[in-house]
Amino acid sequence: MQNISEIEDLVKLISKLPGLGPKSAKRIVLKLINNRDELIKPMAKALVEVYKNISRCKICGSLKPTSIECNYYDCKIVEKKYDKICVVEDIADQWSIENSNIYKGYYHILGGTIASVGHRKQDLLIDSLVERVTKDKIEEVILATSATVEGQTTAYYIQNSLKQTNVKITKLAQGLPVGGEIESLDDGTLFSAFKNRSFLKSNSD
Ligand SMILES: [Zn+2]
Repeated sequence: MQNISEIEDLVKLISKLPGLGPKSAKRIVLKLINNRDELIKPMAKALVEVYKNISRCKICGSLKPTSIECNYYDCKIVEKKYDKICVVEDIADQWSIENSNIYKGYYHILGGTIASVGHRKQDLLIDSLVERVTKDKIEEVILATSATVEGQTTAYYIQNSLKQTNVKITKLAQGLPVGGEIESLDDGTLFSAFKNRSFLKSNSD
């Protein structure tokens, strides 16, 4: 592709997506250009719609229609009332756990780890987790962060933040392979990690 700035910009943007380098980004851009009406047009429209209408909830971190207000007393996203919150790094982790049918309860999506957000710790929504735990009568918080140094540091930070509450805190069992990201685990591993989760703090502490 010979220095057409529009194309170069698009390649740069697409190569920022997970799992894509400049080479695959170029192939994608070519495919798009060769399919203007079938791909570029509907994709541009879909992107605008998602940008306008979908946002991350500032309380629980899940994706929701921007127009719907989510609050922990009367969550419009999750209809059922649960007494557990499972804390995960990303929405992809929530999807893996949901697909495995191991756990029924609320989720709290941090949107990264302490290391990944740097100074912007407030982006991890830990304050709102503490608020949810207190106001929504939560019995147990399950820390399901990755078995990486970043994931475990984040879990420790959350455990500390919840010290003043009366909630039971558990962590997924060490059956997790070191460096294992929740998203990439098979159902069997996830199942035993949930079943054998270890106590970090009991209600009476
Ligand atoms: Zn929410």
